[in-house]
Amino acid sequence: MNIQYLLDDLVADIKATPPEGNVADYIPGLETVDPDQFGIAVAMNSGETYSAGNSSTEFSIQSISKVFTLALTIAKDEDDLWTRVSREPSGTPFNSLVQLEHEHGIPRNPFINSGALVVTDRLLTLTGDSHACLQTFLREQSSNPSIEVNEAIAASESLTGHRNASLAYFLTSYQNLVNPVPEVLNAYFRQCAIAMSCEDLARGGSFLSRGGIGANGRVLTADQVRRLNAVMLTCGTYDAAGDFAYRVGLPCKSGVGGGILAVAPGTCTIAVWGPRLGKSGNSAAGVTALAKLTERTGWSVF
Ligand code: GLN
Repeated sequence: MNIQYLLDDLVADIKATPPEGNVADYIPGLETVDPDQFGIAVAMNSGETYSAGNSSTEFSIQSISKVFTLALTIAKDEDDLWTRVSREPSGTPFNSLVQLEHEHGIPRNPFINSGALVVTDRLLTLTGDSHACLQTFLREQSSNPSIEVNEAIAASESLTGHRNASLAYFLTSYQNLVNPVPEVLNAYFRQCAIAMSCEDLARGGSFLSRGGIGANGRVLTADQVRRLNAVMLTCGTYDAAGDFAYRVGLPCKSGVGGGILAVAPGTCTIAVWGPRLGKSGNSAAGVTALAKLTERTGWSVF
């Protein structure tokens, strides 16, 4: 199989038939991105990386950060976390308030915003600085020491993130955040505003397809990675997780910056990026490209 040829072909397809959808505009800093860029990178477990299109352009990883903060938290303390967050698909938008009240302050899963705030809170308690811990981890795993926060995007979300603030205060009212809300929000916004390319992300997420082995040794046990991939498959793309399983068939995590990280366990890690989003907040070009890629390669968990 000629993977480079496949990726070039996918990029040509996306350029020929650009997807519909708009860039996320509720975070002002994301609005200015050229919506018709598209990139893809595949980091094989055997060591090679293939890429095509705008694969070295940095973008805001947004909720893809949630996979990494969850991995770092699980690596330090799995038990406490799962008393505070469930592991069920939400079926509701990623920033829903209604479900959280209905379920008495226990978020449905760690990938919707309320769940990610609890994970950030726990990582803050465990490390004292969850954002620094994440940034160091991503630099090491991607072998790119220049990975940084885009400060303008972090500041723009901090000014306009009223819904996330509501979720955080709501969680506190149920004693499900222990650190001060402004500290948790600041860490969460900075984590979301980290800028990475598809190539960085595919390499950075390699431990997910390599049974927990990262760039410098073991990150998670094989069991922990298997469970993390299961949560990605069922919850990583919000209320489109069923459709992703149907069309792509791989554990995935999306972000409103237009990136998607996908894992073919035992084979490779894939990152795609296209800023136009479908209605659940997942990259429209990303899902199209991933569906074609898995169809042509047979990389599916099913
Ligand atoms: N920072 C974004 C938010 O909290 C992340 C959402 C996402 O990427 N789905 O709204």
